[in-house]
Amino acid sequence: SDYVVQVEGLKKYFPLRDGLFGQQTGELRAVDDVSFAIRKGTIFGLVGESGSGKTTVGRTLLGLYDKTAGRVLFEGQDLHQLKPAALQALRPELQLVFQDPYSSLNPRIRVGDAIGEAMLAHKRCTREELREKVLAVMKICGLAAQHYNRFPHEFSGGQRQRIGIARALILQPKFIVADEPISALDVSIQAQIINLFSDLRDEHGVTFLFISHDLGVVEHLCDDVAVMYLGQLVETASRDTLFRQPLHPYTQALLAAVPTLDPDAEPVAMMQGDIPDPANPPAGCRFSSRCPHAISRCRREAPLLRAVGNAEHRVACHLV
Ligand code: SF4
Repeated sequence: SDYVVQVEGLKKYFPLRDGLFGQQTGELRAVDDVSFAIRKGTIFGLVGESGSGKTTVGRTLLGLYDKTAGRVLFEGQDLHQLKPAALQALRPELQLVFQDPYSSLNPRIRVGDAIGEAMLAHKRCTREELREKVLAVMKICGLAAQHYNRFPHEFSGGQRQRIGIARALILQPKFIVADEPISALDVSIQAQIINLFSDLRDEHGVTFLFISHDLGVVEHLCDDVAVMYLGQLVETASRDTLFRQPLHPYTQALLAAVPTLDPDAEPVAMMQGDIPDPANPPAGCRFSSRCPHAISRCRREAPLLRAVGNAEHRVACHLV
């Protein structure tokens, strides 16, 4: 199959607890029936506001959270069905890069050793081999060899993210979930890290799930895109289709909110109010409380994600 990762009907519900004894009062459907597939050697963008569930998708997909339902296939194997030993063997292939790598770096461990750490846990190698491998990934990530013996606090935000990426790369993963990896960085540094991701895809064949709220970055970097709202996908398509012909009112609203340099562009108000409480989403279409096109059917019946035009373009809206 051309797909490295296939997600089918994934659900992740969290119990909501309240009161002195922590009684369960409800559940948060953080991910509610999400399906998509990521082609080998591509970057798949998962876009949404905070509270949309995109981070939960990434973590459940990697097995960091138990799923509530659904399947995650990695190169055709069902990750959640694997025996612990088989899963352990597969672990190095799947890595996570997140927003603030600094929080996971021990301030007293030299950067070169921090990058090599995972290698010691997973693979046997000599000190010399390890040092060579660390220097090789540092080079790929744009870190100079003399940084090997420095400590994390000596680095800027952009360099720390390079260290975070190097730590993920040391095990030669096939697939990386990158969760808002550049949002904490200065705009001038963001472009460098974006270029590093595209190099890893183009020259090293790494496949990515790139989680972001920044549509400008996603348009620049991703091959395919899915838009998530309150735990569900509302639209998924190739990057060109999504940015040129967005069909879901929520995608259209997100794109209209991106600043444009076109002086003739009319300002459009396309979304009302704030994102609702994810624990208590609107009935029917979850976007109905903010959608300018909502009809009464929208509040009764949840639209399904359906193929439109070419099969790669899927939209969940009664009006499409
Ligand atoms: Fe708007 Fe209705 Fe479409 Fe939902 S189904 S996005 S409320 S038009």
